[in-house]
Amino acid sequence: MIMSVPYKTYLEESQLPKAWYNLRADMKTDHRPILNPATLQPVTVDDLSHVFCTKLAEQELNNTDRYIEIPEPVRDFYRMYRPSPLVRAYFLEQALDTPAKIYYKYEGGNTSGSHKLNSAIAQAYYAKEQGLKGVTTETGAGQWGTALAMACGFFGLDLRVYMVKCSAQQKPYRKAVMETYGANVIASPSDTTEVGRKMLAEYPDSTGSLGTAISEAVEDATTHEGYRYVLGSVLNQVLLHQSVIGLEAKAAMDMLDEYPDTVIGCAGGGSNLGGLMCAYMADKLKGKSAPKFIAVEPASCPSLTRGKFAYDFCDTGKVTPLAKMYTLGSGFIPSSNHAGGLRYHGMSPILSQLYHDGYIDEARAVEQTKVFEAAKLFAKVEGTLPAPESSHAIRVAIDEALRCKETGEKKTILFGLTGTGYFDMAAYMAYNAGTMSDYVPTDEDLARGLKNLPKID
Ligand SMILES: *Cc1c(COP(=O)(O)O)cnc(C)c1O
Repeated sequence: MIMSVPYKTYLEESQLPKAWYNLRADMKTDHRPILNPATLQPVTVDDLSHVFCTKLAEQELNNTDRYIEIPEPVRDFYRMYRPSPLVRAYFLEQALDTPAKIYYKYEGGNTSGSHKLNSAIAQAYYAKEQGLKGVTTETGAGQWGTALAMACGFFGLDLRVYMVKCSAQQKPYRKAVMETYGANVIASPSDTTEVGRKMLAEYPDSTGSLGTAISEAVEDATTHEGYRYVLGSVLNQVLLHQSVIGLEAKAAMDMLDEYPDTVIGCAGGGSNLGGLMCAYMADKLKGKSAPKFIAVEPASCPSLTRGKFAYDFCDTGKVTPLAKMYTLGSGFIPSSNHAGGLRYHGMSPILSQLYHDGYIDEARAVEQTKVFEAAKLFAKVEGTLPAPESSHAIRVAIDEALRCKETGEKKTILFGLTGTGYFDMAAYMAYNAGTMSDYVPTDEDLARGLKNLPKID
């Protein structure tokens, strides 16, 4: 029998916040400073300003201002695709036959197909405001590069994207979208930087890595007048911009008189989860009752569940500052059969600290075949083809809802649907063909990466 269920999204202009929320202002912990790797002294705004736009460097180190006003031109841009929909997943609830209520905040409704645009547009705005010519960045799967291409196209900034070579070859359409918005996409390792040339001389057939691409983009920015480097996750400034997700989600949930029991997000560098959970984490930090927070990561790149909370470099080339975070070691590269994104070796320092202090209740690692199983069910019943990254959160939302079915608990679950999966069809094809496999690194594999962590307390 086909049953009728109401499909409804909840969004109103009034949910779009006027200010971003800086979670760090409410964290009762000593924020471990970002260190200059040469001196091991805390970096200053001045240090960071050589790499980042000055306003962004200030935001990076700001742990006192609770709210930071969203510049009006950024809010105007947000209005083109925000507030993003909060959706009650009635069809999924029905398919699971669960007493739980499931909501998701959908960030895929823009051309870049992910939440990354929320920070890209802010970063491009500050670069423009500073009078820069352009910015450089790296991209792995391509979502960040696409979002930044849109943002730079909008503000008329030059953009050079170092795209991990194998990804550039596997995802020609991602590259085409970036170029359509005016970006210059360079396959990494490239011969345009010192780091790239060195890499090519040593490994002529290298298909690249995110770490190398970061090193190239940083070198490019710091050796060209009028350019700065920008990054799409991990950093405090990115979590700040992504707070727009959580502030909107809470406003929409409040309208419905709902308060989630569980908040779930996938965690690569930590920016979408940091953004989604921030408004509810504020309650927890104030000692009020709050949801259970679950971070979901791939079993093949398990920084929170099996990494170390330690100072580490943010890139493989060891040119970036040191941050205290959960890490697998800056040389860690996930197994080549890993198709589902979320392949960064570290985790946002904010998320890392919250997890370390017990404010994030749980981190769960899931295997990719289970992730794609959840993705496929979700696509069928909820209509949206999810990104593999987002599907990590879907997996755990489903598992939690199924647990409610066993116990009869009527929990309210909120998860982040961070994006769409149109450019991930090679991974879906592998899953559909039954050739996708799972890989869980052994303790010895991980020990190798952790052995080379810088020795700093
Ligand atoms: C980049 C990305 C992620 C992971 O990044 P976070 O910084 O952890 O949020 C998740 N989902 C999508 C769709 C992405 O593009």
